[in-house]
Amino acid sequence: NTFAEIDLGDALNENIRRCKYVKPTPVQRHAIPIAIAGRDLMACAQTGSGKTAAFCFPIISGILKSRPPQRQRGSRTAYPLALILSPTRELSMQIHEEARKFSYQTGVRVVVAYGGAPIHQQLRELERGVEILVATPGRLMDLLERARVSLQMIKYLTLDEADRMLDMGFEPQIRKIVDQMDMPPRGARQTMLFSATFPKEIQRLASDFLADYIFLAV
Ligand code: AMP
Repeated sequence: NTFAEIDLGDALNENIRRCKYVKPTPVQRHAIPIAIAGRDLMACAQTGSGKTAAFCFPIISGILKSRPPQRQRGSRTAYPLALILSPTRELSMQIHEEARKFSYQTGVRVVVAYGGAPIHQQLRELERGVEILVATPGRLMDLLERARVSLQMIKYLTLDEADRMLDMGFEPQIRKIVDQMDMPPRGARQTMLFSATFPKEIQRLASDFLADYIFLAV
C-alpha cells in the first residue's frame, strides 16, 4: 500500500515524497479513494491519525485535475474552490502549514483566516488569490459580511473536528456558511465531515450537509 497506487497526480505525489510520507495511514488508505471518487464522506478520526492529508490530498488533486487555477483579477472578493472549516486558530494554522507543503509548486494557493488576529494581513493574502481557504467559522462570517470572500465557487467543503466546533457553539455560523454555499447557482459540492466522536448532533449535521455519504470509522 503506497500513495503512488492512488491516482493523485505527479505534482502531489512528488510533494508527498518531499514530506517523507511512505505509507498511507488507515484513515488515508480508506478516505482518499472515496474522496477521489467524488463521494461525500463522514469520517470518525482522531487527531494524529493523518486526517489532514486524508482531506487535503483529494482536494489538491481534484483542483489540479479539473483545470489550472484561474483567478479573478482585480476583484476585492476572493473566490476559493475549497473551504476547510476548523474550530481553532491553532488547528487552522496547522492545516494551513500542511496544505501548503502538499501544494508546493502546484500553483494552488492556500490561505488561512482565523479570529483573534488582525484581519488586514489575511485580507492581503486573500487579494493575492486563493484556491483553498482554511478558516475558523467566526472569522469566515466576518469575511463574508464584508464581501471579501464568496463561497459561490466552492467545490470542496471540509469540516474538521466538527464535534469540537459544535462544542464551541459554532453550529449557527456553520449553518449560515453552508446555506450560502447552497444558494443558486449551486454547483456540485463535495463535502467531507471529520469528527472524533459521532453523537446525535454530528449525525444531524451529516444528514443535513452530506449527500448519499459513506461512513468511515478508523
Ligand atoms: P494529523 O492527524 O493530520 O494531524 O497528522 C498527524 C501527523 O502525522 C502530522 O505530523 C503529519 O505530518 C503526520 N503524517 C500524516 N500522514 C502521514 C503518513 N502517511 N506518513 C507519515 N507521517 C504522516
